[in-house]
Amino acid sequence: MAENFIEEGNKYLIGNYARYPVSFVKGEGVYLYDTQGKKYLDMLAGIAVNTLGHADPDLAEAICNQAQQVIHVSNLFYIQPQIDVAKILVENSCLDKVFFCNSGAEANETAIKLVRKYFYDKGRPDKYEIITFTGGFHGRTIGSLTATAQPKYHEGFKPLLQGIRYASFNDIDSLKSAVTENTAAIMFELIQGEGGINPIDKQFLQAIKELAEKHKLLIVIDEVQTGIGRTGKLFAYQHYDICPDIITLAKGLGGGVPIGAVLAKEKIAASFTPGTHGSTFGGNYLATTAAKVVLNKVLQKGFLEEVIEKGEYLKELLTDIGLNPRGKGLMIGCPLPPEKDASQIAKNCLENGLIIGTAGGNTLRFVPPLIITKQQIEEGIKILKDCL
Ligand code: PLP
Repeated sequence: MAENFIEEGNKYLIGNYARYPVSFVKGEGVYLYDTQGKKYLDMLAGIAVNTLGHADPDLAEAICNQAQQVIHVSNLFYIQPQIDVAKILVENSCLDKVFFCNSGAEANETAIKLVRKYFYDKGRPDKYEIITFTGGFHGRTIGSLTATAQPKYHEGFKPLLQGIRYASFNDIDSLKSAVTENTAAIMFELIQGEGGINPIDKQFLQAIKELAEKHKLLIVIDEVQTGIGRTGKLFAYQHYDICPDIITLAKGLGGGVPIGAVLAKEKIAASFTPGTHGSTFGGNYLATTAAKVVLNKVLQKGFLEEVIEKGEYLKELLTDIGLNPRGKGLMIGCPLPPEKDASQIAKNCLENGLIIGTAGGNTLRFVPPLIITKQQIEEGIKILKDCL
């Protein structure tokens, strides 16, 4: 590791990230070590990505073995681990078919295209509008960015994609008035992640279901952050009485290896015929080998129950130190009053060996590896308490 990584990084990398002056060179479980050998407890997990923590021996071994066989061949050919992962996802959800890509934005971009193609194939190309909600986050590509109903992310990037309409999150009247004869789908997160760990209201979700049924709209749930056990169920929609038409995944699916996926009901998936959509790297040997290890671990008996238990414990400890946690499983946010700056607190924590995140609305965000133990949660809260 070059000692002058900050100067060198700033010289050669495009400056679109505000990076902390730290570089991690090694990880083990929920811990990371920087260039100086300093140890950190990671309660951010690469922003809800490292499901199994760092350097999980089974994940490392599987990737290593696969790399020695074949890493990539393209989707011109059948790829066994891709089929295996699709089978696991289908058998553990209410959806029928899977498309693989590389990121959350790409998964959402794919979902937008799939919605349009489905209605086009039904002879209703006029039904192309997708309703999304304020505070949501769906990615940075132009389609997923447009779907992200937060003006601060749009600044400087207009014109945006046509056909996305915004309504206020958890506001039934606003949703109702956004529906037009052109509406094709409603796309949303069940717990808004970047937006501040804002859970959806049950009545609002019910209203979405009723409107979708009445107007024959598709329900697209963005599970990029909530998926793969993060909330204590394999998919967050499984906490509710709903079966979406399409869900999008990424983040935790590969445990750190880039992968995204779109799951859809059979009749909708059928619109993607050969040549209509694709992704060179999507679901290659390396990525799907990683995803298979992650899914098999997350689906082991008792794993998800423990995520719920540990999440409840984390909430309890956060409440004890005077915070107001919200969220599900190990996706927890604590909104702070204006006199306390979430970014500054996250910075203080980092200096003291604890990695946490922030989210919209001055919120502290906790999305640790799902393998974190109660003792490690206590360790993190102790550091946080001092930093508050
Ligand atoms: N959707 C949600 C809910 C997200 O939280 C994110 C990323 O934070 C994305 C989509 C975009 O994912 P990616 O950064 O992999 O493109």
